[in-house]
Amino acid sequence: MQRAVIVLVFIALFVSYPSAQNRPAWLDPYRANAEKLIAAAQADQFAWDRLAELTDTFGQRLSGSDNLNRAIAWAVETMKKDGLENVHTERVMIPRWVRGAESLEITNPPHHHVPLLGLGGSVATPPAGIEAEVMVVGSADDLNKRGAEAKGKIVLFNVLFTNYGETVQYRSGGASMAARLGAVASLVRAVGPMGLRTPHTGGMNYVNDVAKIPTAAIPAEDANRVQRLVNRGVKVRMRLKMEAKFEADVESFNVVGEIKGSEKPEEIVLVGGHFDSWDPGMGASDDGVGCVVTWEAARLMKKLNIRPKRTVRVVLFTNEENGTRGGNGYRDQHAHEAANHILSVESDSGVFAPARLGFSGSEAARKTIAEIGSLLAPLGMQEIAPGGGGADIGPISALGKVPMMAYSGDSNRYFTIHHTPADTVDRIDPQEVSKAAAALTAMIYVVADMPQALPK
Ligand SMILES: [Zn+2]
Repeated sequence: MQRAVIVLVFIALFVSYPSAQNRPAWLDPYRANAEKLIAAAQADQFAWDRLAELTDTFGQRLSGSDNLNRAIAWAVETMKKDGLENVHTERVMIPRWVRGAESLEITNPPHHHVPLLGLGGSVATPPAGIEAEVMVVGSADDLNKRGAEAKGKIVLFNVLFTNYGETVQYRSGGASMAARLGAVASLVRAVGPMGLRTPHTGGMNYVNDVAKIPTAAIPAEDANRVQRLVNRGVKVRMRLKMEAKFEADVESFNVVGEIKGSEKPEEIVLVGGHFDSWDPGMGASDDGVGCVVTWEAARLMKKLNIRPKRTVRVVLFTNEENGTRGGNGYRDQHAHEAANHILSVESDSGVFAPARLGFSGSEAARKTIAEIGSLLAPLGMQEIAPGGGGADIGPISALGKVPMMAYSGDSNRYFTIHHTPADTVDRIDPQEVSKAAAALTAMIYVVADMPQALPK
């Protein structure tokens, strides 16, 4: 065993050593500044402290909430204090969904309170609630095979979490799947790895031609409990009460701050995250941290007096979670300069180790990004993974055919607290925040300053 490990270490050294020496010469003028930026990002825990200030002061930042408005005003003031340039807001109209009071109980066997979180976009129940027998299903196929049983029931989707992309369809579309078969409400096992009996909220949508039924998430533990009761032949009944509703759209704002390019200010490297959050937690990992680490790119350049040739533009997008109106609004307001975007970068998957940078774009651009990635070897982040992008940078990037990057943390840790009351700054390591800021800042600096624009 031990010898095998030693052999593996030798292989690793042999394989990685030459690539570290093969850094292309064109990067030489950027090495010193990239090293300085990386060192400055890691010299302290400034970024974590800023995240803590944001989440401690303003808490959750649901679209349309006063908290989000106050946080936006703070971000504008703070960007100005940082010395960023062209700091301003850009107005968009956003939906305002209000959760209201909500509760869930098992009425047979009597009587048990169950933790829940209504899903964003859900309608209310009648004031007395909806009480009905529960039908537990393990998949859409299972539901459709037993479709005749669904009428008048509360359908519980007890779907095991595999990955977010596969499992989230039951959160976003489960209510309409169940309503189509005559169900009166739907519940979904929280979308994430098993936590500490934590429900996860998140967005949902109704299909047009089907009745709108109320819908909520329950912890995995409670979904399993109901499943076991049903397996024993118990006719489980539950009562769901929800006051959820949409109010009229309200005004909100993307926050913009820049480092203006010294030679090609019209060419833009766009970087950001979303400033809104769901309401149960503090929106620390999703996505306060993404806002802070991308904002750091501009703050650190300003602090070290490093001004690249192209403009670095930080955007804190509003309303990603339940509307993407911020990302769409940015595209509409910047359509005239969409093609001038050289690269767009989003951080909206946390910073939990092991984290990585991902890239989507042409092979020619990937080669350049991979070469720049060699500068991140001191962070252990030199490998650029396939797949970059994000909900907020997607619209402008599609319009301008812009290459995209994403900073992504470990998905297991990320989705364990995602959209839960446990999304707080306590769970995030200051060093992981600094490392994200370091990697993003060095990458963005070189792309913004290199002689040739990144090929499209
Ligand atoms: Zn997010």
